[in-house]
Order: sequence, then structure tokens, then C-alpha cells
Amino acid sequence: MIEELASKVRQAARITVMTGAGVSAASGVPTFRGAGGLWRNYSPEQLATPEAFARDPRLVWEWYNWRREVIAKCEPNAAHRVLAAWSRRYPGFTLITQNVDGLHEHAGTDRVLRFHGSIWEVLCWERCSSSPPRWIDRTVPFPVIPPSCPHCGGLIRPGVVWFGEMIDPEVLERSAEATKCDLFLMAGTSAVVYPAAGLFQSARVHGAFTVEINPDETPASGAADLSIRAGAEIVLPEVDARLSSKAP
Ligand code: NAD
Ligand code: ZN
Repeated sequence: MIEELASKVRQAARITVMTGAGVSAASGVPTFRGAGGLWRNYSPEQLATPEAFARDPRLVWEWYNWRREVIAKCEPNAAHRVLAAWSRRYPGFTLITQNVDGLHEHAGTDRVLRFHGSIWEVLCWERCSSSPPRWIDRTVPFPVIPPSCPHCGGLIRPGVVWFGEMIDPEVLERSAEATKCDLFLMAGTSAVVYPAAGLFQSARVHGAFTVEINPDETPASGAADLSIRAGAEIVLPEVDARLSSKAP
């Protein structure tokens, strides 16, 4: 299976990779649905919504403060590094990520399409006229919770896309365009969160060879042309090692 994937990577003019939380698991970033996904017995669905923030901004920010602290200590793993190398090696390569941790960028990946924003960005909750649409703030931890907008003194919120919110239309459009590819590789995502999961279907419709890398079965496993049941940090370096050796 590794050799089959390597040969597809060699032949493909356009490669699109979509990653989810599982790709960062080996770096120590907890996935939402795996072990460590709960925080103080709250599920992400109870915290990552505009309604939860409106109700209790302090609680939601305590959770983000904790996640930012965890992520700040994490380093990219072998999966991030291989994808970063591919992004520089193959001109037709696109990386779409659902992750908000910034580890793909940290590994040096070019042209990352961030579906769900970044945990390192914030924006004014009131969208005050004097603040930019969003800005980077790497303060870890915020000394005062909830942190306030430096422009109007109101609340700021994390620059991530919450459940029920819209994905940036430009990111969505560029991601949809990237599904017109020869090889569509999905790694570390449970394939249940739409519209991200829809990109996989779209790639199939466009005739891409579809591959899934995940230690567990997912709703996409049956439909993928190739389903590799192992960690992305194991599989991707093995594939890359075959690419570097002489093609058969
Ligand atoms: P998820 O938590 O629903 O699923 C993670 C998937 O990764 C699971 O299917 C699991 O089997 C798989 N997995 C676990 N270890 C793996 C490994 N070593 N290699 C490959 N796969 C592995 O995550 P999701 O589907 O990405 O969706 C949850 C949403 O929550 C995302 O859209 C994202 O915005 C957000 N989130 C982000 C982060 C992050 O930035 N690192 C972490 C948690 C959640
Ligand atoms: Zn403001």
C-alpha cells in the first residue's frame, strides 16, 4: 500500500492533501474525539460555538487559554515535515487543513488553506470599526480572562471557525478548486465534519485517486481507493523515503 501511494504521488500532476486533528496527535495536540478531547467534562460542541461564547466568554476563553498553552509546547512531527517538503517540491501541491494549531506553517508548508482559522489569531467580538478583521496574538497564557480588544476595550474572540459558523468563502472556493486533482489524500480526519468531508466526495467526482490515512475506520474508509490504517507520522515518511529512492 505504501508503494502504491508512492507511485501515485510520483505520477500525479496535482496533489491535494486534507489534514485533520489526527495529524497533530503525535505532536501531543489532543483530537476532539480521542482521549484528552474533553476538558473539565465539557465536549468541544458545548464550547466551540458563538452561543457558548455569548453565554460565558470567560469559560470559553479558559478552554482556549489551556489549548493555546498545550499547543505552544508542541512541535511539528514527521507527517508535518513530509507535507512541508512536498509543498516545496511539487508545484501542483495544495494543503487544506482543518487544524487550527499552526503546526503545518511551523513546519514550513507553503500555501496552507486553513479551513477553520487559527488559534493564534483573534478578532474583536463586537467587530469594532477601529480593529482589523483579525490579528495574530501569541500571548500564552492571557493574564486576564477574557482578554479585551486593544481598540475598543470590548471582548476579543479566538480566530477559529466555530460550529455553526461560515467558512471563509475564499478558502472554500480555493479548496473546492483544489479537489480537481489527480491524487486526493485525506489524513487524520474523521470525515464527519462538513463541508470538509464534502471535499473528499468532490475529489471523487472529479476522478481523483483517493487515499485515506487513519489508524481507525471512518465513514470515508469504504469509499476511498486506498485506506491505510496507520498513523500519518508513520505512513508519510515511509512514502517519502520511497520517493527519494529511484523510481522503478
Ligand atoms: P477529530 O478529532 O474528529 O478526528 C481525528 C481523527 O484523527 C480520528 O479519525 C482519528 O482516528 C484520527 N487519528 C488519530 N491519530 C492519528 C494519527 N496518528 N494519524 C492519523 N490519524 C489519526 O478531528 P477532525 O475530524 O479534524 O475534526 C475536528 C475539528 O476540530 C477540526 O475541524 C478542527 O478544526 C478542530 N480541532 C483542531 C485541532 C488541531 O488544530 N490540532 C485539534 C482538535 C480539533
Ligand atoms: Zn474592538
